[in-house]
Amino acid sequence: MSKFQELGLGENFLKAITDMGFENPSEVQEKAIPILLEKDTDLVALAQTGTGKTAAFGFPMLQQIDVESRTTQGLILSPTRELCMQITNEMNNYGKYLKGLNVVAIYGGASITEQAKQIKRGAQVIVATPGRMKDMIGRRMIDISKIEYCVLDEADEMLNMGFYEDITEILSHSPEDKSTWLFSATMPKEVASIAKKFMHNPIEITVGSKNVGAANVSHEYYMVNARDRYQALKRLADANPDIFSVVFCRTKRDTQKVAEQLIADGYNAGAIHGDLSQNQRDIVMKQFRTRQIQMMVATDVAARGIDVDDITHVINYQLPDEIETYTHRSGRTGRAGKEGISMVIVSKSEARKIKQIEKIIQQKFQKKEIPSGMEICEKQLMHLANNIKETEINHDIDVYLPQIDEALKDFSKEELIKKFFSVEFTRFYNYYQKAKDLNVIAGDPSTSENKDSVRFFLNVGSRDDFNWMSLKDFLKDLLSLGQDEVYKVDVKDNFSFFNVDTKHKELVEGIFTDFQMDGRNVNVEISTDTGRGGGGRKGGRGGRSGRDSRSFKGKDRGRRGDDKRGRRGDDRKSKGGGFKKSGDSGDEFKSKFSGKRRGKSKPESKGTGGKRRRG
Ligand code: ADP
Ligand code: MG
Repeated sequence: MSKFQELGLGENFLKAITDMGFENPSEVQEKAIPILLEKDTDLVALAQTGTGKTAAFGFPMLQQIDVESRTTQGLILSPTRELCMQITNEMNNYGKYLKGLNVVAIYGGASITEQAKQIKRGAQVIVATPGRMKDMIGRRMIDISKIEYCVLDEADEMLNMGFYEDITEILSHSPEDKSTWLFSATMPKEVASIAKKFMHNPIEITVGSKNVGAANVSHEYYMVNARDRYQALKRLADANPDIFSVVFCRTKRDTQKVAEQLIADGYNAGAIHGDLSQNQRDIVMKQFRTRQIQMMVATDVAARGIDVDDITHVINYQLPDEIETYTHRSGRTGRAGKEGISMVIVSKSEARKIKQIEKIIQQKFQKKEIPSGMEICEKQLMHLANNIKETEINHDIDVYLPQIDEALKDFSKEELIKKFFSVEFTRFYNYYQKAKDLNVIAGDPSTSENKDSVRFFLNVGSRDDFNWMSLKDFLKDLLSLGQDEVYKVDVKDNFSFFNVDTKHKELVEGIFTDFQMDGRNVNVEISTDTGRGGGGRKGGRGGRSGRDSRSFKGKDRGRRGDDKRGRRGDDRKSKGGGFKKSGDSGDEFKSKFSGKRRGKSKPESKGTGGKRRRG
């Protein structure tokens, strides 16, 4: 018999709970549900992200509303569209055995008429963001004059986002005698004052200590060029050999791609996102729980299903679209009294978001450096030494000892140790010995340059209808390079500049040999103008030893942008705009050129080093 039964929930709900796989109520559920079922009271509940607050208010609300009636009886206000959809989804799960239940999500950025239609069908519960809600009340599309329950979910975040006035306005349309339940992770004075203003003698419950907001999570950020994001991720993983982490990406596609790349590079990684079947998700979750997967790459939505307590690191491979989501991400670590680290990999253009997040989490970030290759080697070496120290001896080896002794008899203890370590270590060393510095220094563009980059002059410019976005699109299509592989695009009237990594130098020169557009020669020259870039370079990025070469052989080449959706597609607006005469599509456009197009020379395999799969 489950502990949920003792909270006073009916059969319908207990069945749904079993279906969802919840075994025991969380602390906030255990405290809030009985109170909310028994008393008509206002409530203030403080509990960290990820503690199960949705069910703490969801079940009591659903158990007390009348599904036979079509009147709106419950309103849940929540800060973001994403949360609204999640809550709606959860409520539908809780109420799956309640016939006639209609929960409607109301949020901005979607058709208001469609939402009004759904409301008209009779929504007993509305889950809404304050902005859209206020709008729809103003247009008399929603009537909340008969609600009995109002939840202010993530109250601190709603206030942070400036919804105070909208909330006041919305609540002025609701009856005085409803019950108001406020849920929040933290209790800044704005939340205290909202509680005072809208609630009558609320019962207060606190889970964990007040305001901890996850005080045992430290926040770090690392600034790199967007195109180095993946390399940075690998270094962070390599510098933390015992890492057990969730790596957050913004989209399903990036999630899948980063995971595939990590796996190809020999990491114990997996992906979880909405395009996987339930069965696939169950499998990766099981692997994660049993530590076969050390790095779980996840979308925000899918990560909510991760119920693992001892995550050491949360890595924000990309920041979320809604920075408020960061709280949910970082709340995945530092649980159950353990320490956790939340790391953010940012490009320079995202640096300001760090400040915004600091306001929300009310904690400061530490700016950290991506470890150098040699630092990582040292970490790995010491980790290996410790592993050896802690390893229990397997005495089944004893019988082979004489043979082993014989094979190694000419070596001193010191030599043996060196050889032994080299077996494991040379691979790392080879990979990292020539690794470049990935750190970008904010505010100083010249230092973000690296010697592996080359700057080209191109004899077309804004006169040819290019701007930096369209030129960048044009170049990366023409060269089959990824979003971050053509950079520092600078368009002047009659000419332009752009950078590529030096390894693409010949590709660029090849394509722009005898290259014509509508009879006009278009050519490039290596630019000496800035003194940045240009220059020679040495060898490839890190040599590789044989056994790692299973990695990524440049498949998917040129589609690997780390950050494609970073600007929400803005940068594709004017695609091909430069050469209107030649048609709009890049492909058509290319075919008009008489320049020969060299096949992409892509010998260098992308992944390297990294750690081997264990176990
Ligand atoms: P919060 O609102 O406190 O951040 P949520 O309500 O979003 O937390 O819950 C976080 C996750 O935990 C969700 O995936 C939810 O389904 C899950 N969850 C909630 N309650 C339980 C429970 N009693 N047992 C197992 N998982 C739970
Ligand atoms: Mg919540």
